[in-house]
Amino acid sequence: MPRQPGTRQRIAVVVGTRPEAIKLAPVIAALSESSWATPVLVSTGQHRDLLVGALEVFGLSPDVDLDVYRPGASLDALTARLLSALGPALTEIDPTAVVVQGDTTSTLTGALAGFHAGLPVAHVEAGLRTGDRTQPFPEEINRRLTSQLASLHLAPTAGAAAALAREGIAGPQVLVTGNTVIDALRAAVARKAPWPAALAGLDDDPRRVLLVTAHRRESWGRGLDGIGEALGRLARQREDLLVVFPAHPNPRIREAVEPHVAGLGNVWLLDPLPYGPFARLLDRADVVLTDSGGIQEEAPGLATPVLVMRAVTERPEAVEAGCARLVGTNADRIVAEVGGLLDDAGAYAAMARVANPFGDGRAAQRCAEALAWHLGLGARPEEFAPV
Ligand code: UDP
Repeated sequence: MPRQPGTRQRIAVVVGTRPEAIKLAPVIAALSESSWATPVLVSTGQHRDLLVGALEVFGLSPDVDLDVYRPGASLDALTARLLSALGPALTEIDPTAVVVQGDTTSTLTGALAGFHAGLPVAHVEAGLRTGDRTQPFPEEINRRLTSQLASLHLAPTAGAAAALAREGIAGPQVLVTGNTVIDALRAAVARKAPWPAALAGLDDDPRRVLLVTAHRRESWGRGLDGIGEALGRLARQREDLLVVFPAHPNPRIREAVEPHVAGLGNVWLLDPLPYGPFARLLDRADVVLTDSGGIQEEAPGLATPVLVMRAVTERPEAVEAGCARLVGTNADRIVAEVGGLLDDAGAYAAMARVANPFGDGRAAQRCAEALAWHLGLGARPEEFAPV
């Protein structure tokens, strides 16, 4: 695809998993609306089914579909397949720059393929760190390596920019944008997607809703067992509680949790939800219990307290601000923390009324402007500062 003088710049936006789709959809929209860019959405197919449900709410579909996923493939095989597919795809697209997001295998290989092609690489949500190479696995290493490959580092918070500075990555190429997930969440909630059949009647259900998600590799085994036990105990203790758990498609999750909650009418173990209904469910929930990264950022945006079933987090802002708490995966602790929040209105209000430290809904616009600046096509945007 040779470029004509004066035409818009093609920007390859690499997306592999659900959170990447959700967090890059607003960036794609901002690039499309700009006067200078034409985004080309490259789906690696790492989590193809989830990706479609995430893009749908934004009216997006992939321009290039690499379809690399093979069930049961090892991380090594996935990495090799992705890299082999991305190189030729970039040659074909012939973009001016590559945009990647977050910390997945698609992120890392997208950045590496861009680097190999000699292209500027913009990393959205740069600088998240737990400081522990194994948690989350393999994401902590994916994002550290991506920081070495990127030429533009779009940090969601000042804390993320500071983490990059500690690794020697500093200067104007590091720019604080806010997290694009807040832009995505606001757009999705405003659209008020219809409930799927499994959730029909939820608006009129008087029960308090505990929304649960869990998928991290480091929770497989004992962690998931603890989570399942906690959910079973909470559901038995509290008839006024409805546990809604859209389970990740990985069968290990369902298999670990199901035996603990079998036969309990107030535990709804569902398939993953498309982003539209999921955003609505987040808004409806009273408490969120999750090991997800993105949901830690979204729940405070809807004033929903979030209990994080992990030992460490790369998003300390929510814990420091008081809208999230780390609770691990021990069943006793989870039962006590959820019960404490549901029974203590003061503790609940203290978590719910904290301002969201992650974004103001204008992060994607800053990302697009920062990329234009990086390519010599515009001014450097003002950085995000939480209110
Ligand atoms: N999400 C969704 N449907 C679901 C569960 C989650 O659309 O059934 C969204 C959620 O709102 C968040 C993203 O998926 O934006 C988080 O994805 P995940 O937990 O898989 O990844 P992580 O954020 O931990 O990287």
